[in-house]
Amino acid sequence: MKQFLITLTGFTLVCFVCSCSQNKQTPNTSDAMADSISSSMITKSEQEHLSPDDVIASLKKGNQEFVKDRLTVRNNTTRVHAASSGQYPEAIVLSCIDSRVPVEDIFHKGIGDLFVTRVAGNIVDEDILGSLEYACKISGSKIIVVLGHEHCGAIKGAIDNEKIGNVTVLLAKIQPIVQEEKSKFKDDTTSKNEKFVAAVCQKNVLHSVEFIRKQSPVLKEMEQKGQIKIIGAVYNMESGVIEFL
Ligand SMILES: [Zn+2]
Repeated sequence: MKQFLITLTGFTLVCFVCSCSQNKQTPNTSDAMADSISSSMITKSEQEHLSPDDVIASLKKGNQEFVKDRLTVRNNTTRVHAASSGQYPEAIVLSCIDSRVPVEDIFHKGIGDLFVTRVAGNIVDEDILGSLEYACKISGSKIIVVLGHEHCGAIKGAIDNEKIGNVTVLLAKIQPIVQEEKSKFKDDTTSKNEKFVAAVCQKNVLHSVEFIRKQSPVLKEMEQKGQIKIIGAVYNMESGVIEFL
């Protein structure tokens, strides 16, 4: 066992050295710097000076870094200590629960950068609205991103009209969108048709964005005043790219 551990440690060391030397081959220094997630958390003053468009640009750049798939250094220990004194996240993301969508990772963000609220099918209810209002009105976040994703089980479940316990109640919130898209689609409207699934997914995201504006006067007013933006996006499973709608 001891020998196995020594061998494993040696192998890990070789891998680490290999990945370091690969990283050193990155042609330009500023590019290589972009791989590292800063050890310092965003401060209250920095958050206050960000505009919604600044945050959108930062999220887009972060996703580009994620897609490049180079070595990501996370200074978690430093951030854990810094986080205990407060948080000033720049955005809140409403995501599906899918394990293949690691929200902080795909935006190349670390501890303290984002609020994340998750529910299957990224639907909106009163509690989600409360979370969004808390993030923006009380904690100063500048952007709400409703994030759908490819191959979503909740979307497929709604299309297939699955009925299991409380899942039924949740999927019922997506049903009107399924029916609306069915009326437009000429082809196969089952969950086997990825194009149909993608169309319902996108429509569901846009519906959530509109639902937030309709059901939350607080957030609607903040958006009208230019204090926040509410946007939709879809994560592509194959490429890692987030398409902003
Ligand atoms: Zn999903």
